[in-house]
Amino acid sequence: MTNPKRLLDSYGISPKKSLGQNFLHDPNALDKIIRAAELSPEETVLEIGPGTGALTDWLASVARRVIAVELDDRLIPLLQYRFSDYPNVTLVHADILEVNLSLHIRPDEPYCVVANLPYYITSAILRYLFEQPHKARRLVVMVQNEVADRLVAPPGDLSLLGVSVQYYGRPRIIARLSPAIFWPRPDVTSALVRIDTYADGERPVQVADEAQFFRVVRAGFSQKRKQLINALSAGLGIDKEAATTLLTAAGIAPTRRAETLTLTEWAALANQVQQFAPPVQTPQQQE
Ligand code: SAM
Repeated sequence: MTNPKRLLDSYGISPKKSLGQNFLHDPNALDKIIRAAELSPEETVLEIGPGTGALTDWLASVARRVIAVELDDRLIPLLQYRFSDYPNVTLVHADILEVNLSLHIRPDEPYCVVANLPYYITSAILRYLFEQPHKARRLVVMVQNEVADRLVAPPGDLSLLGVSVQYYGRPRIIARLSPAIFWPRPDVTSALVRIDTYADGERPVQVADEAQFFRVVRAGFSQKRKQLINALSAGLGIDKEAATTLLTAAGIAPTRRAETLTLTEWAALANQVQQFAPPVQTPQQQE
């Protein structure tokens, strides 16, 4: 594989920590990513942050089409030159969080995400990807070790990120990887994670309204390590008596903490809130 340091040096580019730029230079690590992705020749891949194009090159050799979204202006000429002869690579110069994916991937075109993510915005990227109406079938992403642990955490150690990702898919850790696979070496260790997304209409729990579900989960996690009665009353703007009623009706002790709830309990709680919440009034009804 091309040495990223040499390639960047030839363009006079030095890595920016602020953009999470740690480039892969270990062929075994690349091989692990590609194997975990299990791409078929009919599949489209969305790559976030192609960097110098090391992973992009591999992806282009196995997938039907690669859409690579890179934010850093300095890398664009390098990537344009490197992939000018690759008809199946589309380079998009943009912030992934601002890309309108429907302009690049048709609603009936199945796709996967494969990326060595910029760690400073991992949670925002995962949220953005799962909020898309047309979701990726699976995601194979390199993330910081601690983030990988949060993604697969069981009840007792759950976080807002863990609940959100486990609601949309099945995450598992494929490998823990040393900082030595990157140049420059990051200060943290990494993990390769694969998330298989549930098909539309197939979720691990039934919720009456997804927006309400996430509003309740966010409220529950709004106050770190506080009892749910306090977190919910602050997060939902209700008094403690109402919070107790909701929790009790959902079969959850008000003294429990957010990280201990199972997805089934979150769904039961959200469904209670839905039932008790006053109907949202249209302006006409309010007159
Ligand atoms: N894929 C390359 C590799 O594995 O060697 C580079 C991975 S590096 C960890 C993260 C990449 O994401 C960098 O190229 C960085 O410029 C890019 N990046 C950072 N923030 C981004 C954003 N908001 N949107 C798109 N790309 C971003």
